[in-house]
Amino acid sequence: MLRLPTQFTYYRPTTVEEAVKIAADHGPDSMYVAGGTDLYPNMKRRQQQPKHVISLSAIGVLRERSGDAKSGYTLGAMTTLAEIEHDAALAETHRAVVDAATSISTPLLRNMGTIGGNLLLDTRCNYYDQNYEWRESINFCMKCDGDTCWVAPSSPRCWAVQSSDSVPVLTAMGAEVTLVGPEGERRIPASDLYHDDGIQFTNKKRGEILTKVHLPATNGWRASYRKLRRRDSFDFPVLGIGACLWFDGDTVTRAEIRIGGAGSYAIPATKTVEMITGQKLTKGNAATDELLRAASQEAFKPTRAMDNTDHEASWRKKMAPIFVRRAIEDCL
Ligand SMILES: Cc1cc2nc3c(=O)[nH]c(=O)nc-3n(C[C@H](O)[C@H](O)[C@H](O)COP(=O)(O)OP(=O)(O)OC[C@H]3O[C@@H](n4cnc5c(N)ncnc54)[C@H](O)[C@@H]3O)c2cc1C
Ligand code: SF4
Repeated sequence: MLRLPTQFTYYRPTTVEEAVKIAADHGPDSMYVAGGTDLYPNMKRRQQQPKHVISLSAIGVLRERSGDAKSGYTLGAMTTLAEIEHDAALAETHRAVVDAATSISTPLLRNMGTIGGNLLLDTRCNYYDQNYEWRESINFCMKCDGDTCWVAPSSPRCWAVQSSDSVPVLTAMGAEVTLVGPEGERRIPASDLYHDDGIQFTNKKRGEILTKVHLPATNGWRASYRKLRRRDSFDFPVLGIGACLWFDGDTVTRAEIRIGGAGSYAIPATKTVEMITGQKLTKGNAATDELLRAASQEAFKPTRAMDNTDHEASWRKKMAPIFVRRAIEDCL
């Protein structure tokens, strides 16, 4: 059985300000914990070893939810995945967000896991998500305790994989996040939160708490999330396609498609988006079928998927156009 390290101090502040202060007092030795479904397994594997663990669970304001379809919804970062899964109003208007949350792990873990924790989920890799002894036997790797990347040994960077289900869809639909830290509060597009590096995969500043997730109002867009994984009962995505299309009638006026599980951030499918923007797309129409076939073939090209997740990269590459096309068709 893997056990938590015996030596760490656990804090349970009741305000955001108090939590930020505790983090500032302890610097890099501290980490926040929300549901703990990512952090605690990482601590048990000694991938992350904070000496000061600051729980966000007693901060009531982080659980608040507000808004409606017209103005958009604001979800406190401690909103659990289960609460999103069972939110009937949200399912009416932001179905893709509910689908993504519902696809995460298992019902038990969704009762604990939060949307904030999901947005900040650690990147994953077959050489990293192992216990200490396994990692020690290969002399560790660059992401934790070592120097070499075993996926690409000559690479100066880490290629660990963005594996959160909510990230592709939230970045595609233009959701925003609020962060509060020692330097104050800022609200940024969720897409600006991420950085293409397996180690420094977010632009979150030290000590910042993600406090809110802002979902856009429903104003002419439709979105979808499609996930590829080994077991449909539960598994991390090896491909997570978030698509959002804005329409004027049947004409696509704007589109955003993000490919998760294929790099260290949710990668924009730029060429695919270019090909469908300005086009009239009608389900079942031969010209639409032809365009979507060609456009979805382009989606995986900007990614650098490697053999460091479940399933071979070559197979995931073949599956990508199918899933991208399905995600676009969901929006029609
Ligand atoms: C068996 C298993 C299967 C899983 N399957 C999936 C899956 O299919 N898809 C998927 O996306 N995830 C999966 N997960 C990962 C995890 O359960 C979810 O990503 C969950 O949403 C994480 O949320 P949490 O609140 O538990 O995060 P935590 O573990 O509490 O935190 C995760 C990280 O975010 C930081 N953090 C959390 N909240 C905040 C905040 N508000 N402000 C600042 N920092 C914060 C923590 O410091 C930590 O670094 C799985 C986990 C397990 C154990
Ligand atoms: S991509 Fe390389 S450095 Fe990053 S976790 Fe995997 S083996 Fe380690």
